[in-house]
Amino acid sequence: MTPLQPTYEIYAIRYATMTARTPQMNHLSPDPHETTASDLDYFVWLIRGKDRDILVDTGFNEAASKSRKRVLDINPVDALARFGVQAENLRDVIITHLHYDHAGNLDRFPRATFHLQDREMSYATGRCMCSGVLRHPFSAEDVTLMVRHVYDERVTFHDGEGEVAPGVTLHRVGGHSDGLQVVRVATTRGPVVLASDASHYFANMHRRSPFPIIYNVGDMCNGWALCERLAGHPDRIIPGHDPLVRKLYRRVEGGIDAYALHEEPSHSFMRFDAPEAPQFS
Ligand SMILES: [Zn+2]
Ligand SMILES: [Zn+2]
Repeated sequence: MTPLQPTYEIYAIRYATMTARTPQMNHLSPDPHETTASDLDYFVWLIRGKDRDILVDTGFNEAASKSRKRVLDINPVDALARFGVQAENLRDVIITHLHYDHAGNLDRFPRATFHLQDREMSYATGRCMCSGVLRHPFSAEDVTLMVRHVYDERVTFHDGEGEVAPGVTLHRVGGHSDGLQVVRVATTRGPVVLASDASHYFANMHRRSPFPIIYNVGDMCNGWALCERLAGHPDRIIPGHDPLVRKLYRRVEGGIDAYALHEEPSHSFMRFDAPEAPQFS
């Protein structure tokens, strides 16, 4: 008899929000009639199995908050502690890509192995970083810390597809950053895809409208299709920065801004094609 594949719980933990955005900041070619734009939420994602926790991305810290003038509501490490998860005990941390808001705090996980795509490390340490427009979302300090982890044999590199645990797989999409990867997680409602910055907002993917921070537009467009194939249903794709996640998913009890992604959302995107579809943003 084939053993049942394990399933996991997933929590999106919001640790910061950027307000006062414009349509030009959220879409490469915004609809000219649009005058308002969604806030940008910052999340890390916690995958909880029977006997192991896996963290997806590590957020930014107070120093980055000050230098980039972003309000940090809580350091993700402290948010995890409130959730009952001690950063120093985590063994597996997936880094979707090395942008400052996904790969800070790398000194706070002393026992972790970091899961990263080959191409992300090459991109973040290679010639593209000589261009300000491509370098801007990276922090030399974060990237240097990741290099130190490589030298300490604490990075597991993946090339395209990879597996972190049974039912938790990685898939390179590139596009936004050359080595960006998404995470597919088996849950009781089917496979959920943590798209991270493959789609900042639901609207980027649904409207096929790229977010303006891009390395390769073609890879970004192909990445949306890959996310859809991996998830098998639009309600099982979770964008990286959309405040709509907080409206669609159940907020967990307690003093932490976390949402249960392994549970069904309150509204289905399958019905959003209708003209009377609810508008959240
Ligand atoms: Zn990014
Ligand atoms: Zn991001």
